[in-house]
Amino acid sequence: MPWCDACDRLVEDSTVIDGACPTCGTQIVDTQQGPMPWKFRFMIAATAVYLIWRAWQLIMWLSH
Ligand SMILES: [Zn+2]
Repeated sequence: MPWCDACDRLVEDSTVIDGACPTCGTQIVDTQQGPMPWKFRFMIAATAVYLIWRAWQLIMWLSH
């Protein structure tokens, strides 16, 4: 499903009109063809940082 940055939400494929958001009319990119939404990438990065932090805590705990 394409993501609309202006509305800050996913838009149903069936409601997209000529590649534009039906709510605000902004041209939106299909997430399957275009770049990933930055929020999705940020979420993955945040999860990775959290897991590394937890692993680090575990190593520190085991070493004491
Ligand atoms: Zn929109």
